[in-house]
This record gives sequence, structure tokens and C-alpha cells, in this order.
Amino acid sequence: MNMMNMDFKRKLPIPMETKEMYPLSDELSDVVEKRTAELKAIFEGESGKMALIIGPCSADNEDSVLDYVSRLVPVQEKVADKLLIVPRVYTHKARTTSVGYKGLVHQPDPNAQPDLFKGIIAMREMHMRVVKETGFVCADELLYPEHYKYVDDLLGYVAVGARSVENQQHRLTASAVGCPVGMKNPTSGDLTVMMNAIAAAQRQHDFIYRGWEGRSAGNPHAHAILRGYVNRQGVTHPNYHYETLQYLAGLFAKWNPQNPAVIVDCNHSNSGKNPFEQPRIMKEVLHSCRYDSDLKCLVKGFMVESYIEDGNQPVDGGVYGKSITDACLGWEKSERLIYEFAELL
Ligand code: PEP
Ligand code: MN
Repeated sequence: MNMMNMDFKRKLPIPMETKEMYPLSDELSDVVEKRTAELKAIFEGESGKMALIIGPCSADNEDSVLDYVSRLVPVQEKVADKLLIVPRVYTHKARTTSVGYKGLVHQPDPNAQPDLFKGIIAMREMHMRVVKETGFVCADELLYPEHYKYVDDLLGYVAVGARSVENQQHRLTASAVGCPVGMKNPTSGDLTVMMNAIAAAQRQHDFIYRGWEGRSAGNPHAHAILRGYVNRQGVTHPNYHYETLQYLAGLFAKWNPQNPAVIVDCNHSNSGKNPFEQPRIMKEVLHSCRYDSDLKCLVKGFMVESYIEDGNQPVDGGVYGKSITDACLGWEKSERLIYEFAELL
């Protein structure tokens, strides 16, 4: 018989059960709702602020992630009139070859074997602790669409990654996401794929989700994220320069989605994975926005990969607050960058 070749090891709790075990209080639910509403206002062009989605490539350790996000609190207070900070708490990692550390949800301890039961709880706990202890709501990646429901009451921002953006289930799930969702350009750089993804996410869809037949509402805050790309020869190319932004503004005019918006991801193929280029990239984009008022309307913010220590290390490197996936900008440089960003607005 041709049966699925998989050892079904154990049944995991469904999102509702996990929420019963780790409920969100009404007070914290209000925090999430208010902060997400502020972010939505940025995407609607109803706020004079810009969004800054900043934090480690992967949320690999509860202590260092909470330490990092706590450092953002006083900084956010100082720039509150200019910027809305959304910490990156990425509990899922897309891997180019599907090997290596796949994120907290797979390996709550990066040096131990995968434990997805502990992982889904660790994911909920980490997002809940951030809201409770810092008042921030976070960004995570929609890597496995069925995981979203475990944390849908906690997230303020969701990104569909470069390797997932052409996938139908990701697009349909994005159309049901309750907060702003960023659709990245694919690794090949095809901006039409990204625009198709935005159009799909903004519409209503009937589809199967976690064993239910459902109808999504459509997400009016689905928008673009430019992350650079890799060409057919495997060479990295940026896509944050003035000409690309102008071209994208033309695509938005033609496609005419609700709330036209783009977030520029300053790392990944835009920086050629050199995290120290991120401040320069952000400043260049802000310059383009000052030069062209259409771009100023379109660019709603930035994504920056930042952690406590500069750079990255092997998974078992053991340095506290240093990335075990993509290299990040360390805390001091990141703090300076946030203040410089606010000064330029
Ligand atoms: C990331 O944000 O860390 C990431 C993996 O992004 P991308 O999907 O653009 O590669
Ligand atoms: Mn990354």
C-alpha cells in the first residue's frame, strides 16, 4: 500500500487548547489591539510616523530576546512622536536548503533535538512575555500557515518570506491575518510575484484551514517588503535604490491595491547579508523619499536585523545575544541607528 511515510509521533494541542493553558488577559489584549491599530494607521497613511521592525534574525533564546526587547523600551519612548517600533520575534526560520536550525518552534533549545510540543508553547510564551513585560507587540514570519492561530491574538505584524510568497496557502492565510502582513519579493526578485501576493492577500477567500472550511475577510493592510534578490548566476542584488522604488510606485499605481505601502528590509540580499550596511541603506531610502513625495507616501518603514552583539556565530557558539542565523547589527549601533532615523524624519 502507498501510505504516507511519516511517523505520527504524538498529537499536539490545538491553538484553542494552548490559549486555554496560556490565556491572554483582557488588559494585555487591549495593549495588542491599541498598538496594532497604531501600526495599521501608518499603513493607512493616517499617521505621521514610520514603522521600524527591528530585532534578531531568529528569536533563539528567551532571556536574550527579552533582554534585547527591553532595551528598546526607553528608546521607543524617546522617539515616540516619529517612530513605531515593532520588535522582530521570529520563532520560525526559513532555511535555503531546509537544513540547520529551523527556529524556536522546532528547537526551543537550539542545541537539542527538535521538540515541537515544547516549541509551540515556547512560541506563545515568548510573544506573551514581550507584550506583558514591554508593552510591544511583535512581528513574526508566517512560515507554516497553520501555526499562526497559536499566536494570532499576540502578533502586531506578520511577514510572508521570500521563499513562501508564491505559495497559495500562505497567500490565503495572509488574507485572514488580523494585523498588517508584509509580502516579501521572492528570492528571484520578481516584483510581479510580490504584487500578485498582495492582491491575493487583500481579497476574501474560501479555503481549508486547520480542518475547517472557512472564509477569510481579506487583509487591507497587505503590503510589499523589498529584501533584495539573487540573480540567475547566484549574485546578490539590492532593490532599495531610487529607480526600483520608482518602478514599484508605478506598479502600485497600476495595480491599485488598498493602502499602497512598502517596507524596506535593510538586510538579506539588500545588504548582501552585511548587517553593517543597514544604516547606510536606510539613509539612502530616506533620501529618496525626501526627493520624491510619491516615495515618501509609499515607504512606510524599515526592517532591520539587530541583536545584542554584532555579527553571527555557529548554532553552538554560546555567545549571549549573538545571532545563530543571519548576521545582525549589535545593540550600540542599533540604538544609534534608531535615533538617527528619528532625527531624519
Ligand atoms: C528573515 O527575515 O530573516 C528572512 C529569512 O527573510 P527572507 O524571507 O527575506 O529571506
Ligand atoms: Mn534573516
